[in-house]
Amino acid sequence: MRVLILGAGISGHTAALLLRRKLKKEHEVVVLTPNAKWNWIPSNIWVGIGDMSAKDVTFDLKPIYERAGIKFIQAKATEVFPEGFEEKKNFVRAESTEEATFSKVIDVEYDFLINATGPRLNFQATPGLGPEAHTHSVCTVGHAEETSEAFKQLIEEMKLGNQKTIVIGTGHGLCTCQGAAFEYLFNLEFELRQKGVRDKARIIYLSNESELGDFGVGGIALKTGGFVTPSKTFAESLFVERNVDWITGAHVKLVESDKIHYETLDGENHTLEYSFAMLLPPFGGVPLKIYDKHGAEISSELLNPAGFMKVDADYTTKSFEEWLPDDWPKTYQTKYKNLFAIGIAFAPPHQISKPKKNKHGTVIAPAPPRTGMPSAIMGRIVANSIVHMIKSNSLDAPYTASMAELGAACVASAGANAFKGSAVAMTMYPIVPNYKIYPETGRSLVHTTGEIGTAGHWIKKLLHFAFIYKAKALPFWWIIPE
Ligand SMILES: Cc1cc2nc3c(=O)[nH]c(=O)nc-3n(C[C@H](O)[C@H](O)[C@H](O)COP(=O)(O)OP(=O)(O)OC[C@H]3O[C@@H](n4cnc5c(N)ncnc54)[C@H](O)[C@@H]3O)c2cc1C
Repeated sequence: MRVLILGAGISGHTAALLLRRKLKKEHEVVVLTPNAKWNWIPSNIWVGIGDMSAKDVTFDLKPIYERAGIKFIQAKATEVFPEGFEEKKNFVRAESTEEATFSKVIDVEYDFLINATGPRLNFQATPGLGPEAHTHSVCTVGHAEETSEAFKQLIEEMKLGNQKTIVIGTGHGLCTCQGAAFEYLFNLEFELRQKGVRDKARIIYLSNESELGDFGVGGIALKTGGFVTPSKTFAESLFVERNVDWITGAHVKLVESDKIHYETLDGENHTLEYSFAMLLPPFGGVPLKIYDKHGAEISSELLNPAGFMKVDADYTTKSFEEWLPDDWPKTYQTKYKNLFAIGIAFAPPHQISKPKKNKHGTVIAPAPPRTGMPSAIMGRIVANSIVHMIKSNSLDAPYTASMAELGAACVASAGANAFKGSAVAMTMYPIVPNYKIYPETGRSLVHTTGEIGTAGHWIKKLLHFAFIYKAKALPFWWIIPE
């Protein structure tokens, strides 16, 4: 049997290593991904402030896969034929991204397929957004390196006495991943203090969240120091303490070289002048076309309008009030039982944070986050299911991990320094609130906690090394949890 995995990010790489460890050598594990290097994306925020370099957060995939016995194809998938076509059985069509064979079209047949292609960074959704236009990004290591250069330059100008306005946040009303913007902001703020130029900067957090601390999960009631504190209060006190302004409920419509145009939930239009901006793009699924056995396109059956792949979730149209935790997928199988979508690639059934519309009809709604820990857990359970399916010759996927039953732990860095740095360590259970089981806040108050402190920074640093160790498949890598 051949298991083909599209994407060597957090979810796909986890699945590939586990499959190789658990399947007999007669079965093939193949990873098809466009990048030669693996990237620990959570540490890109440190690259973006110049605290780490690209080589601290990346490594070459080829030698790791060679050692592990995984076949590596450096290419980007473009089409999937889950029913086979002409004389071929199920296969993926891809374009080589390797220098020697660049753009060469290759077809790779499979028995099981995992779509772990992560996000398409949709900077085009907002004119002027992104590194090819006016704003910076830390979504890829390349972006983060460019951002770090621009940040260095900014500090030099501040040292000469120039006053700057720095805007960090989301570049569209439908963005997700606010945690990354939050972390970049507080690391940048910390770095400005370290460099002695904090007084030269006005820092503004510009976000599509309707209030601070929403994070796309409708906010969190955190148990901290024996008290239950809404994440809004927790976040606001941090922003006030660090003298950072915030604008929430914002949909960025246009970015010029020195101005950001946005509208807010109250329907007002605003313009913000800036000197340096790091704004996240909205995410979509990577462009893939799906065909049936006759060669007819069936992409809309398998992909939602944003391009995310539909799995075993309840996608029937419901109002926000009607959705249930049970709507969330459990096995990540698509309508083709040997095709799975995990991590950011799967289509969430609905918003977790209530979507809001302003009087002009503009929807401003943070999309559900799919952070690293749940993405890796999805990789694990899908690998386990495929091992079971191969061994038992069945199409039942027995391993499950619904985001309505999974918890998440997140350590958000707020300054990278062993003595003066800090991080917010948060746990939340479950990710998707369940008001039947937890009527007050939707989540367990025992397992939903938050603390800020220097110890949090040490944990974040430790996780950086532990996850890179695990991803390099070094001795006993499997002992390190997701
Ligand atoms: C700046 C930043 C900071 C973050 N910080 C945190 C954090 O602190 N904690 C946390 O839990 N989460 C964090 N996240 C989120 C975390 O990175 C994601 O949850 C995680 O990477 C999702 O895993 P994934 O496997 O779905 O996608 P990815 O890790 O993005 O992997 C996708 C893979 O698919 C490949 N691919 C793309 N297109 C194709 C194609 N056509 N064919 C084949 N392969 C393809 C990509 O090259 C990549 O290898 C952060 C995200 C960002 C952007």
